[in-house]
Amino acid sequence: MLKDWWAALLDIIYPPRCPVCRRPVDRGGAWCPVCLAANLAERELNLAGRRIAFLASCCVLCDYAGGVKKLIHALKFRGDSHAAASLAWLLAARLDARRFAAVQAVVPVPLHPGRRAERGYDQTALIFRAWAERQGWPWHDALARTRPTAPQWELAPAARRRNIRGAFAVTSPHLIAGKTILLVDDIVTTGITMSECAKMLKRVGAAKVIGLALASSDYGR
Ligand SMILES: [Zn+2]
Repeated sequence: MLKDWWAALLDIIYPPRCPVCRRPVDRGGAWCPVCLAANLAERELNLAGRRIAFLASCCVLCDYAGGVKKLIHALKFRGDSHAAASLAWLLAARLDARRFAAVQAVVPVPLHPGRRAERGYDQTALIFRAWAERQGWPWHDALARTRPTAPQWELAPAARRRNIRGAFAVTSPHLIAGKTILLVDDIVTTGITMSECAKMLKRVGAAKVIGLALASSDYGR
């Protein structure tokens, strides 16, 4: 009740605006229809020929471009909590969760602890966790980085697999064994990072690993 009143008051002082173009919208975090239409590109990635054998499939919601790119940047590098809310809104409002009906738990691709400490937050959890829990799926931080890795986008394609191999370990195998896991990350580039995580999850007995990223920076439509 107090929260509703407070939200209403804030709406008068700071009317909610589209995070991309600043047009007025009906609630905080929401996108205007024009920016939604320009940014949404929900699709299954074509994994054939990519040597990404450990993911059963991988779904993305947007291209890594335009407003989505701007907001992911603001969240990752400036810790902008409004950007986090706008990206979480996009997922909650526009992704059809029914396509993941078989999922039993959600696991994020982990940041290295050093990078997490430096930032003070984990952007993947800020984007996905509330959405996952609303679907009734437990959120398990079941993977850990075992060593720092260079950002994949800095490397030539051939070096990417080497960079990431053996960089992850499953910390809670009992939460994974026998289950269909939804593996989530903010951006998928080549899919090699997700595939390496999926490999480790399968190794401890995951029945199936499905990928989901907010944005894709490499795959064509
Ligand atoms: Zn807009």
